[in-house]
Amino acid sequence: MKSSIYSQDMYQYDTPEDSLWESTQGSSIAANTKMVGEHSCDVAVIGGGYTGLSAAYHLAKDYDIDVTVLEAGHIGWGASGRNGGFCSIGGVAESSENLIKKYSLEDVRTYYQSQVEAVELVRSNIIDEQMDIKIQGTAEIAVARSKRNLEEMTEHAKFQRKYLGLNATVISKDELKESYFDANQQWGGVSIEPTFGIHPLRYANGLAIAASKNGARIFSGSEVIDWQKNNDSHYLTTKSGVLKAKYVIFATNGFMPEYLLDNFKARSLPIISSIITTRPLTQDELASHNWQTQNPVINSRKLVNYYRLLPDNRFLFGGRGSSSGDRLGAEKNYNYLINVMRNIWPNWSNVEIEHKWHGFVCFTRRLTPSIGRLDDDPSVYFGFGYHGNGVNTSTWTGLQLAKWLGKYGKSNQIPSDLPRIVYGLSPKFPLSALRRYYLQGMIQLYRFKDALSDNRS
Ligand SMILES: Cc1cc2nc3c(=O)[nH]c(=O)nc-3n(C[C@H](O)[C@H](O)[C@H](O)COP(=O)(O)OP(=O)(O)OC[C@H]3O[C@@H](n4cnc5c(N)ncnc54)[C@H](O)[C@@H]3O)c2cc1C
Repeated sequence: MKSSIYSQDMYQYDTPEDSLWESTQGSSIAANTKMVGEHSCDVAVIGGGYTGLSAAYHLAKDYDIDVTVLEAGHIGWGASGRNGGFCSIGGVAESSENLIKKYSLEDVRTYYQSQVEAVELVRSNIIDEQMDIKIQGTAEIAVARSKRNLEEMTEHAKFQRKYLGLNATVISKDELKESYFDANQQWGGVSIEPTFGIHPLRYANGLAIAASKNGARIFSGSEVIDWQKNNDSHYLTTKSGVLKAKYVIFATNGFMPEYLLDNFKARSLPIISSIITTRPLTQDELASHNWQTQNPVINSRKLVNYYRLLPDNRFLFGGRGSSSGDRLGAEKNYNYLINVMRNIWPNWSNVEIEHKWHGFVCFTRRLTPSIGRLDDDPSVYFGFGYHGNGVNTSTWTGLQLAKWLGKYGKSNQIPSDLPRIVYGLSPKFPLSALRRYYLQGMIQLYRFKDALSDNRS
């Protein structure tokens, strides 16, 4: 049965989110064609975000496979057209120490190295396909908020360099203030390369256009409402058509319609993330906080904020979203986010906020991405659960799924280069109907802890 754990306001596929990205997406927009009537293909992809589009792009380009994407909204309607545009190393929400205990140092290092490659994969997609996207910055800056916090981050950076092979560099309190920006709640930080900022919706459109150019068929406005299998063929039904396929890639991440297939029930926890953007800041306003960097930035609050200066000098500020997804809850949460931003950047307190929007990021119970093929039906592939860091991770996941299908589709082989920590379905969430409520409790606790340390700093 069609039900979801958040308000229906979050699933209005025919309404584009009122984001800055929608209003600045440029002229390269993927064709908007609804599937009508009966169609067939080798591989059907459900979901037209980066995971599905990257899979379709590589299946068509690298393996000449007949692939069709079905997207419920417009291309990039989901998180791929709404995110902060940080193309950075991540994708997991578990500490490296715990991951090493559970898997091995080798596995964790392999994963992080794959994520460095994933950042470069996005860069080469943008360049090779001549997408109209400005690549901004070279590193992600993680800001410490206290001396103790900087000491912990310095230790962690040493660990990242030595054991994970990451390019992590410590920035002193004075250096951050003099060469990056000067705001409240900052005590130096750490920079990690490579990272850059992009226009996320242009990237989704760019991938879709590149996939089509290589022969993939892409349908938008085509929500899959029923999924059946008969005689080795899958039948995906939308309101106006049916797609028959030998294989399916399920690429719906935080907007996952769990009711379509039992295997995916309770496997993910969607969490809302929100973004506000200002009008373009003047040079004087930028100087008032000594803002000098193109790099994307995160802070070390329990409920992390992410921010960057956009090419036209608008300031983008993001953080955890509302707990219900309804309009009222969303508005309250935007106001909370605006307050947090103004506490950190008091000289910008009177700068107008022009856009506010939100969407789902996706967690798994084991806190690592879930990439694989169903054990009880090897014709179904999936990729989801990037823990708020999917620009590179989901692009890379699409490539992994395309390689898997393209090279080993008909055999039982698992690609040897897929890191173990992402392999297969993550365990189900217990008491799955209550997922949103236990999350809500945790968010309130973290807000309280952040408020306590705001008062101390
Ligand atoms: C506010 C916000 C900020 C973020 N910031 C960053 C960031 O700065 N950097 C970063 O790396 N990551 C960020 N993320 C996460 C990142 O955007 C995601 O991890 C990534 O876009 C996931 O891509 P995807 O293709 O797997 O999922 P999505 O882009 O969500 O695509 C899934 C698609 O499936 C479609 N779908 C669902 N059900 C059906 C159905 N029944 N039939 C057909 N289609 C269906 C949906 O319409 C949706 O378009 C952010 C996310 C949000 C929401």
